[in-house]
Amino acid sequence: MSRALARSELENFPSLEWSDIEPRLSRAIREALETALTRQEGSALSKEQSLALANCEGDDLLGLLLAADQLRAELSGNLVTYVVNRNINFTNICFVGCKFCAFSRGPREVDTYFLSPDQVAAKAVEAWDLSATEVCIQGGLPHDLPPFYYRDILRAVKRALPRMHCHAFSPMEIVYGVELTNMPVRDYLQMLRDNGLDTLPGTAAEILDDQVRNILSRNKLSTSQWREVITTAHELGIRSTSTLMYGHVETTEHWVNQLLLLREIQQQTGGFTEFVPLGFVHQNTLLFHQGLARSGPTLAEHLKIHALARIMLAGSINNIQVSWVKLNRNLSQLCLHAGVNDYGGTLMEENISREAGATAGQYTSPDQFQTLILEAGRIPAERNTTYSRLHIKTSLEAFTSEESMIPEFA
Ligand code: SF4
Repeated sequence: MSRALARSELENFPSLEWSDIEPRLSRAIREALETALTRQEGSALSKEQSLALANCEGDDLLGLLLAADQLRAELSGNLVTYVVNRNINFTNICFVGCKFCAFSRGPREVDTYFLSPDQVAAKAVEAWDLSATEVCIQGGLPHDLPPFYYRDILRAVKRALPRMHCHAFSPMEIVYGVELTNMPVRDYLQMLRDNGLDTLPGTAAEILDDQVRNILSRNKLSTSQWREVITTAHELGIRSTSTLMYGHVETTEHWVNQLLLLREIQQQTGGFTEFVPLGFVHQNTLLFHQGLARSGPTLAEHLKIHALARIMLAGSINNIQVSWVKLNRNLSQLCLHAGVNDYGGTLMEENISREAGATAGQYTSPDQFQTLILEAGRIPAERNTTYSRLHIKTSLEAFTSEESMIPEFA
């Protein structure tokens, strides 16, 4: 049986060397990690090997974290990227009732709000003036939404700021827009694209297993609907992120199945820009208070899911993002050593995780990102949403030649 790791061992794992750990690994885990490091392809591992990695503990877990870090250095280099963006949650009124959500409100509650397309555009202009390159626009689903409201938001933002990147509307919102307009999914997405939709958040995924989805939110779109929206968007040239919410009712097998599904979609479309594990923030949620879920992920789970994603998605989705807003800043920094190469967005106005009980704050400035990344011994670089443009502000003379290894981006 594996020994349980002390918290301090997990917090200090970056000081270990592969040669310290390798002799202490179980045979099955050593073979799996060596295959991953040699082939640099997640698909070189069998499902059983992936499951064994997802369930590993003790020295095997330390080996997984170190192997993920090595793979990150080889596939994504030593840069840690981030995007200067603003979250705009246009309304908190929502009928869907996801049990993990503390953001939504019923229409008659006192602290509801609803922004018009012009108000959303005004927020985008404020963000542009503060050097944001992206607005991430998502919101609740109110019953009486005007049928073309999502399109009209895009029109308003692009009218004001033709060069602002609109990263907008979860697959759940797309399904709602389809229902409101009676348009086929493809036509609806095409209409949004033609009115300024640049990329789609791959949210509303949580766990892509209908039994788990029924526990989390009975009214949410199904796994097959999520897949249909995402693949159709990719086929239309609308790329998306991909996500997984962990630390609630799911098992490690759900993690593995979801990573396999995302890899399969990526092979088909090539449309995912990144993968983002989202830790369940439990404090203010029904899911936790009704005794349906555990109290969020453990430290070991936080580190393991990022490392597992790096290994299983190697050669398929090579950008692994840590969500600083769900984790505290020290933990998100630690994840940079467990396979992560992207810090996400500055956000400016994060609401969803804060309402659920997260304490990381609503905004991390570009200067704070630079500091956090430099403290982790890596090179900060601002990116655009699709990772096709990078801007390194730090003088590379400050780094050794090994540290400034040229990155290769997926
Ligand atoms: S997660 Fe989104 S869809 Fe679900 S209740 Fe919250 S706002 Fe509504």
